[in-house]
Amino acid sequence: MKIGVNCGHTVSGQPGCGAVGLIDESKETREVGKRLIEILRKAGHTVVDCTNDYAKSTSENLAEIVRMANAQPLDLFVSIHFNSGGGKGSEVFTYGGQRHAEAVAACEKLHALGFVNRGVKDGSDLYVIHRTAAKSMLVEVCFVDTASDVDLYHKLGAQRVAEAISEAITGGHSEGSGEMTQTQYEELKQEIGKLNL
Ligand SMILES: [Zn+2]
Repeated sequence: MKIGVNCGHTVSGQPGCGAVGLIDESKETREVGKRLIEILRKAGHTVVDCTNDYAKSTSENLAEIVRMANAQPLDLFVSIHFNSGGGKGSEVFTYGGQRHAEAVAACEKLHALGFVNRGVKDGSDLYVIHRTAAKSMLVEVCFVDTASDVDLYHKLGAQRVAEAISEAITGGHSEGSGEMTQTQYEELKQEIGKLNL
């Protein structure tokens, strides 16, 4: 699969940065998102990092994310966020609230870790959902300002959250099992080159 991953918002304290509660959304979107990118790449998937750290405004940040996502065809675009406003649990936004397999699975996998499943919701008004050309989803992992969510998130760690989202995206499968990844192919070509045949 070719997947676009966005660690939501700019970095902390910048225009376009995320919510701050008991934890800092901008920091945690990167903790989870960068691990997600690594896990997907190790499984042989092609990942385009659509993260924008610095922007003059929220709208510039969003436009830059969408520009990176739409620069090539993608099978899926995923944006990682954390919620705020005192709710509990995880939710996933899609265009028109479509319950595509990856979105439903993301809710279920996060629920399996212990978060309340708030379900798949209509994210048609979210810029990164309606402006990206690929099938898209925005994952709100949990609430930055709800103590029980933050406690659970800390107990699990960003790695397990990233693994859960990765499983939701890929169904736990590596890219083309039995086939070589581009990297493996390049490495093999180099090895053969060294043999001076
Ligand atoms: Zn956010």
